[in-house]
Amino acid sequence: MKSTMTRKQRLEAIKVAGYHDDRRTATRLYIEGRLSLPAMQEAFAKGAQARAAGVPCSCFECKEAIAERASALLSAASGDRVRAISDARAIATDADTRGAAGFWHGVAQSLEG
Ligand SMILES: [Zn+2]
Repeated sequence: MKSTMTRKQRLEAIKVAGYHDDRRTATRLYIEGRLSLPAMQEAFAKGAQARAAGVPCSCFECKEAIAERASALLSAASGDRVRAISDARAIATDADTRGAAGFWHGVAQSLEG
């Protein structure tokens, strides 16, 4: 089956793989797309850099996960606001989710305000 991804979409997908440190997926995308190795490596590195810089991941799964977690946190806040604020701060510093630290600090701030 021929892939319908454009080169740009493929590079974006490799960037997401870089964000997730998923070399297996990046390699598959590289092989299927006949990209140059430097182009693949650059896209992968950009994803890793975005994560290190605290930029939220642009992939659908990550956006969904953030939205679900934020909505759960906000509904919990009506029962225990102080707890919800400390939970948001904890999520911001957690190793798995700190890529979106700015977002979670924003949630905490809006609950404080
Ligand atoms: Zn993601």
